[in-house]
Amino acid sequence: MKPHLIFIGAPGSGKGTQAAKLNSERGFKHVSTGDLLRAEILKKSSLGLEVKQVMDEGKLVSDELVIRLLQANIDLQTSQYIFDGYPRNLAQSQTLDQEVLKGSSSVAVYFEIDMGKLVARLTNRRTCKDCGTIYNLLSKKPKNEGVCDQCGSTNLVQRADDKEEVISNRLKVFQETISPVLSYYQDLGRLVRVDAEKSVDEIFQKISSKL
Ligand code: AMP
Repeated sequence: MKPHLIFIGAPGSGKGTQAAKLNSERGFKHVSTGDLLRAEILKKSSLGLEVKQVMDEGKLVSDELVIRLLQANIDLQTSQYIFDGYPRNLAQSQTLDQEVLKGSSSVAVYFEIDMGKLVARLTNRRTCKDCGTIYNLLSKKPKNEGVCDQCGSTNLVQRADDKEEVISNRLKVFQETISPVLSYYQDLGRLVRVDAEKSVDEIFQKISSKL
């Protein structure tokens, strides 16, 4: 049985791209707490209404709320998961081990990148609203401008929190909260570091070698 993967990395460090590749080539299921929260906002559910402002400001949503949403959207009996965007702090790391994984094997993958490079990556990120494919207007443009290569949709959108004024806050929150998470996995001997500035294929190979 392959281990579950726990992706840790600043916004824009390439977690979503690797998750999509591991999904299509290795059968992992991708669960992103950010995506789950954005879906609640789109549905205008009471949870969505509650978290919208916090997310628009680039701050973290409460631990309690996120774990409830995560638990409702996974089934560890049937799938191997990539946890993307969870955990974001030490308490979430402990909750993931104690209440979700409960002894199932898992490896944390840290996408290391110079923070200075992320602002350009994030402001140029576009996501297909219909199939979720991620583009970057600098490094991974769609073949035809404004049209998704995968599904042909013309709905390539910028996330509300990928605007420059919110990005700096998101990066600050990441830097302030992540080191206890890294130490937690490091101390347990479950941390793999990848250089997030390498090519998509090189990063994929490194992660695959740990499976
Ligand atoms: P992401 O798509 O991972 O960049 O997350 C977008 C936003 O969703 C974050 O800026 C937070 O407001 C919220 N969020 C996502 N995951 C978590 C989490 N594990 N804990 C708290 N807030 C989260």
